Amino acid sequence: MQITEIFRSIQGESTHAGLPCIFVRLTGCNLRCVWCDTAYAFHGGQAKSVEDVLAGVRNLSECDGRRLVNLVELTGGEPLLQKDIYPLIDRLLDLEYRVLIETSGERDISKLPAPVVRILDVKCPGSGEGGTFRLENLAALRPPDQLKFVLADRQDYEWARQFLAEHPVRDQVEAILFSPVFGQLEPRLLAGWILEDGLPIRLGLQLHKFIWDPDTPGV
Ligand code: SF4
Repeated sequence: MQITEIFRSIQGESTHAGLPCIFVRLTGCNLRCVWCDTAYAFHGGQAKSVEDVLAGVRNLSECDGRRLVNLVELTGGEPLLQKDIYPLIDRLLDLEYRVLIETSGERDISKLPAPVVRILDVKCPGSGEGGTFRLENLAALRPPDQLKFVLADRQDYEWARQFLAEHPVRDQVEAILFSPVFGQLEPRLLAGWILEDGLPIRLGLQLHKFIWDPDTPGV
């Protein structure tokens, strides 16, 4: 597998936000969102075996044989571009980690095993990658999956609201997240729109960007 980084941080962008988490960032992405904050993961990285990655996860999550962190997030880049993601997930589940995967929504999610929490983006027009969402993925959603819209402006907000009106998936997921593009859309504005419309939406902020310097990789 091609891996950009493995690190321990605070989960920042889902219903698990605030929990200690081990992140495995896979290298490579087939999309180019204009506001992407992980462009450093497009290229490079290190070739590692599944066992190497597991060793990295265990090293960061255990101390003296005791499990201190049980949450592992597979992210990127786009983690579903690499076929070894499946044996890695199987091994993590065997070891009783709680596994999250964050994916762009463009890849097929149906082969991911049921215990995995799938955090699925729907790319809005302001990302520059609107129209890439694989609509067949909606049928595969089930709790505790989460559907996420990253919004650059009011136009994206209205687009996301319309998408949800056309695809009423609220009961299939644990949460629908609306997250403002950091530094571009004021969270206060987005919060106001959600409240005005009475949407059953969770406002998602990238918690790690409020804790650490927003441009710091590996947090
Ligand atoms: S899908 Fe994710 S990693 Fe790929 S360009 Fe978009 S934000 Fe960046």
